[in-house]
Amino acid sequence: MNSHPRVCVIGSINMDLVTTTKKLPKKGETILGERFETYPGGKGANQAVTSARLGADVSMIGAIGNDTFGKTLLQHFKSECISEKGIKIIPDISTGVAAITVLDNDNRIIVSPGANSKLTPKLIDEAQDIILANDIILLQLEIPIETVQYTVDFAYKHKIPVILNPAPFQIIPEDILKKVTYLTPNEIEFLSISEMSLAESIKEKMIITKGEHGVKFISKSGEAISIPGYKVNVKDTTGAGDTFNGALATELARTGELEQAIVFANAAAALSVEKFGAQGGIPDRKEIIAFIR
Ligand code: ADP
Repeated sequence: MNSHPRVCVIGSINMDLVTTTKKLPKKGETILGERFETYPGGKGANQAVTSARLGADVSMIGAIGNDTFGKTLLQHFKSECISEKGIKIIPDISTGVAAITVLDNDNRIIVSPGANSKLTPKLIDEAQDIILANDIILLQLEIPIETVQYTVDFAYKHKIPVILNPAPFQIIPEDILKKVTYLTPNEIEFLSISEMSLAESIKEKMIITKGEHGVKFISKSGEAISIPGYKVNVKDTTGAGDTFNGALATELARTGELEQAIVFANAAAALSVEKFGAQGGIPDRKEIIAFIR
């Protein structure tokens, strides 16, 4: 048991700009919306905040612009007790933003990756010492794929376990899939991976999240195990997968027990959908333990 799990999250950092409206504008039309709010977001940042709230020492590696959103997000990482030493400020490009329009249950999202697209292998090189101090690395696919490949090679060489959350899905080089320790697709991402020729050979590293139906994975003894979802009062499923991944990384680093970590992450993610916002719903450790009992 490791009471100070150290999790390194390498991924996207965004500001979510959320406009709630009762109707959508037609071409050339301007309308008045109902409400506007900003929330820290990006899969990398959401997963880092989860790990920190669950008690891990978290290092975030990412890139932001030299602008107001970037400054606000750096402050946010500090307030969540996340080390921001590995976050690079890139000149002449904006911080990543997601422009989100919410009309009842119809969400429309345009992501402008901005500085996230400048998280290059060179920046991973510069952060080597930070990365090496961790028990586990958590990656997603909102940064350039060559940076994901470079990080996976580095981690493989130094024998640091890697969880790759293959979201949002894109074609992933087979070498990455062979070298990562765990893959955490949702059902749709799992279908895309299943079509790849190496799918059968990596099935033992797949932990498939199935929304309200919980999680499916293969145990060490080769047995397929389904962990059912919890019946909860669903308010907003945004970021459920991010909460699952942050919790999984923290518990794997803490205990090294895969099944126990999945049970914990399934409960963390279920609790997160009871509240609004990708980071707003992330529970703390005590809430999860009380919920599982
Ligand atoms: P993603 O958010 O990446 O699409 P999923 O929809 O599979 O991923 O959700 C991830 C996890 O969140 C699930 O495995 C489950 O633990 C939890 N979860 C998501 N939706 C629900 C729900 N409606 N009820 C209970 N748990 C949920």
